[in-house]
Amino acid sequence: MKNIHSKNFFSQNYYESVLKKAINSNYTFLTLSEFFKSKKPDKKKIAILRHDIDKKVNRAKIFLEVENSLKIQSTNFLLIHDVNYNCFDLNSLSIFMHAEKKGHEIGLHTNFLQTSKILNLEPDQTLKKELSILRNYFNIYGVACHREIDYLYNSLPYLQKNWKQISKENILLYEAYDNQLMNNFEFVNESIKNHLEWRNQKPEDVIESGKNFILSTHPHWWYKENPFED
Ligand SMILES: [Zn+2]
Repeated sequence: MKNIHSKNFFSQNYYESVLKKAINSNYTFLTLSEFFKSKKPDKKKIAILRHDIDKKVNRAKIFLEVENSLKIQSTNFLLIHDVNYNCFDLNSLSIFMHAEKKGHEIGLHTNFLQTSKILNLEPDQTLKKELSILRNYFNIYGVACHREIDYLYNSLPYLQKNWKQISKENILLYEAYDNQLMNNFEFVNESIKNHLEWRNQKPEDVIESGKNFILSTHPHWWYKENPFED
């Protein structure tokens, strides 16, 4: 194969190599709530590991196993109303309750505006319900808006416009696209623009630059043995 990007390199071993490179470059790993509690957005060499669980929930273990072995923590965002998985089935609860015990953070992944439009509900109430449901099992400090490629509505502009009120009413510390993050961190994530690859830049390059970064990853695009496993 001529083009290295034409094969799927998003394996567990590769993930581990990226984290080890950041550790060896003296990065400090924070969960999102730790970052927002620290109130030091200008601190240098911060890495935030964010996982949006959109489907294939079992593959979240690909990240968590590596992070546990390296004693670093990530922030994992769970969907309540998506049709791809049930975050309250025994397998999912087992994964994320165990993760929270190990110091990882759980947050709400949501497209509450789209859910409200489809079900003819009031958006603020939908978000409130989603948080309440998830808080039966986890400590929730923040939300990250979710969009499908074929999305109907984007919740993020609504959330940001009404953030002062929403955060107060729901006791939320952050939303994951806050300017404090987006202005001080490189946002590194996967893309399927042409084929599966990093969107704008590789984490290795960002680590070499010494800049703060958020590594935003989705378990369904990663694998342990091969990309077709469960
Ligand atoms: Zn998502």
